[in-house]
Order: sequence, then C-alpha cells, then structure tokens
Amino acid sequence: MSPEEFRIHAHKMVDRMADYLAEVEQYPVKSQVKPKEILNELPTDLPISGGSMDSIMIDFEKTILKGITHWESPYFFGYFPASKSGPSILAEMLTATLGSQCMLWATSPAAAELEERMMGWLKQLLHLPKAWQGCIQDTASTATLTALLTARERYSNFQINQAGFDGSKFRIYCSEQAHSSIDKAVKIAGFGIDNLVKIPTDSSLRLDVGLLEQAIKADLQTGLIPLFVIAAMGTTGTTAVDPIDKIGALCTSHSIWLHVDAAYSGTALMLEEKAWMGKGLEYADSFVFNPHKWMFVNFDCSIYFVKDSKSLVNTFSITPEYLRTEEDELVNNYRDWGIQLGRRFRALKLWFVLRYYGAEGLKTRIRNHCRWVEALALKIDKHPDFEVKAEVTVNLVCFRWKPSLAQSEQLNALNEQLMKRINDSGKMFLSHTKIGRDYVIRLAAGHPELTEQHLNHAWDIIQQTALAIE
Ligand SMILES: *Cc1c(COP(=O)(O)O)cnc(C)c1O
Repeated sequence: MSPEEFRIHAHKMVDRMADYLAEVEQYPVKSQVKPKEILNELPTDLPISGGSMDSIMIDFEKTILKGITHWESPYFFGYFPASKSGPSILAEMLTATLGSQCMLWATSPAAAELEERMMGWLKQLLHLPKAWQGCIQDTASTATLTALLTARERYSNFQINQAGFDGSKFRIYCSEQAHSSIDKAVKIAGFGIDNLVKIPTDSSLRLDVGLLEQAIKADLQTGLIPLFVIAAMGTTGTTAVDPIDKIGALCTSHSIWLHVDAAYSGTALMLEEKAWMGKGLEYADSFVFNPHKWMFVNFDCSIYFVKDSKSLVNTFSITPEYLRTEEDELVNNYRDWGIQLGRRFRALKLWFVLRYYGAEGLKTRIRNHCRWVEALALKIDKHPDFEVKAEVTVNLVCFRWKPSLAQSEQLNALNEQLMKRINDSGKMFLSHTKIGRDYVIRLAAGHPELTEQHLNHAWDIIQQTALAIE
C-alpha cells in the first residue's frame, strides 16, 4: 500500500472510528450472534487474489461488527473493564505505524527511555516506594510468572536456571479468592499445582493471616520450603483487599517473597482516600497493576515493579553475542526484564494518557467511579428485594436479588435468570461470581466517559427486569 493510498483509507477509517465511539451506546452491548454464525459467514477458502480496502470494510460492517461484544460501551459492567480512551487509541495508531521492536535500548532508544520515565511517573501517581524499579509487561499473568521465576532463582542463587530442579519441595501460598493466573504460573514455573496452598479467607473474603502462618509453620516442620506468597490488592471476585502489612511482616520473618497482585484495584492507589489499601506495600518484593483495566490505556499494558531489579535481570538475561551492544552498562535492555524478547512500544500509549488527562484528570474520573458505585450500592442495599453481598472497596458492587416471596434455595436460579435476561436484552452487560454457595451479580463501572446517569439507568434496568420475572 502506497503512503498516498494509506492516507485516503486512514482518513476514512478515523471517521469510522469516531462514529463508532459516538454511537456505541446504540449497539447491543452483548453480541447477539449464535455459536458458529460468524464462522459460517467467513469463506472457507483463502483469498487468492487481493481485494480493495472498501470490500474489506464492507465485510467488517456486515460480518464482524455484529459478533462484537462492546467492551467500549459505558453499559459494559461485566468482569473488569478493558480500558481504552481517545489518547490511548491514537497512540496505538502511532505504535502500529512505527512498528518498533523494543527489546534492546539500541533497537529504539526512545522506547526504552520513555518506558523508564513512565515507570517513575507511575510511582509518583500511585505513591509507590521510590526505590522500586520495573517495566511494562503484556499482562498480569506474565508479571506474576516472572515474579515466581525470580523468587525461585533468588532462592537458589540462580542455580535452578543452570541445573534444573525438583519443584516439589517448594510451597506457594495465596488465598482461596486469588486469581487463576497464579495457578497457571505455578504450573508453568515447575512447582506443581499440589504445592500451591490456598488459604481460607475471613468473613470479608480477605486472606486469613493466622491460617497462613499456621500453614507456613506446618510446612517448615515437614521440611518443605515456603518460597512465595501472593497478596491480592483487590480480588477478582469482589475486590477484597488482603492485609498486606500483616502478610508482609510474616513473609519478612521467614524470608519469603511477597508478590502483590493489584491487577485491577492498583489504579485506585492514586486516590489519597484509598491509601489504606496499600498499607504495608514497602514489604513487597514485586507488585503488578494493569493500566489496561482501569486507567484508560488500551490492552495490553501491565505494570510490574520489583524491589530488587538485579535479581530480575539475573533471572532472565541471556546475552548471545549478536545481541551485545556498547551501551549495555548504561541503559535498560528490557528484554532482560522478563520473558519476551520482542516487545511492543507500550510506553507510548501510557505517555499519551498520562499527559492528556494529567494526574488530576485521572483522579477525578477514578474518584467519581468509586463514589458513584458506592452510591449505587447504598440504593441497592436499601431496596427491600435486593442486597449487597460484599464490601465495596473501589468501583465494583456485588449484589443479589432477593424477592420477598422466593425461597432461599431458589435465589441462585433467580439471580442467574435475572443476569441472563439483562445481558440478552443487549441493554447492558453484567457478570457474576460465587460467594460461598451464593450466585452473586457483579457490576464494575470504569469507563472514562461514564456518568452517574449511566449508573442510574443501569439500576432502573435491573429493577425493571426483575419485576418482569416475578
Ligand atoms: C484480571 C486479573 C488478573 C489477570 O490479568 P491479565 O492482565 O489478563 O493477565 C490477575 N489478577 C487479578 C486480581 C485480576 O483482576
């Protein structure tokens, strides 16, 4: 494609993108297609000769768009949001245009140095320990795996990388509410899932530190090696916050690596009133949070900090001759800070977002999301036929419909039915979790252009749909 042809199509495309952003509330939030509907519309045969951009876009409109669930809609309240924003989308266009590979300083010095500066800005924004260093990872899953591998190597003085190991002596601990990416990382790192110890939670779904201490002591007595603890700052089910200070003190006294998984709620550390969630963070050996969830940066962008960057680099550095450069001592070669060699230029979209909104613009939005969801939770809890089922710590409310005539054993089925009806209507999108045996509906509100009216309307839809079921 020549630059001139590109210019023509790019202008059309930007118009289409702006129309989409303006009209997104008119689409059904949840895609209404049936399984295989899209697949069957796509020709089985590979195109042999090329086609025009216009014909590709016609098929995009006809076949692809109806199979999209609109995460961009302010009425998408399911899971956790996948953030994006105007400045971030524009930066992604530039990133794609440059196509830089950001593995070494020398392969794009601006990318490496912008990344280093962004990590500094984020420490200021979230009030994180000044001595931490870090880099951008693709996902929290990768960051957690990276932490686990680094802990393994630090423990063995980097000998496991050399000689291999029998993983079955090591023990890793997290709460029963911790994210499934931890199970995956434990498997990949070679410890065996039997050595992931899931500690029960207290009545607020926070890791029970007393039970953690008992588990560690019992393991020590049988000759096992407590290696790694994951504390969640915002669990995925209910955004419960584990007591990081108490867990940290325990880890320090047993020389255990503490990893803090703040994938979602980490963004809220920018608010002074949420500083309580980070109490004890100075104990952490590693910390991850995802601007791609709730800081208006497009997927993928996961921020990974460590206390000791030397251990991290020693774990991952393998410098074959053809990748050695003159500047190795002076600069960060981020290829050595994680698993991937090739790396996208992710710092650019972070820079655009931080400059466009500024700390104040971000705080205003994040604070509003938290306040509006708290207000919604109060309304839900006041309603005689609804109840809030978990403490609201940020911008997620977990609730349950409890019509007065229903038997308690019917409630799970009723709530499932309520959520399915709402999602099938296309008006908004919710997801669910289980708290104990209870089926609970989750509403997470994190769109950058969200207003309190969106949430009021969402509450109306929930009540009206429930009424229609009764
Ligand atoms: C979403 C989430 C993850 C996984 O995030 P990815 O970036 O998709 O790997 C991990 N932990 C918590 C607490 C999460 O909410």
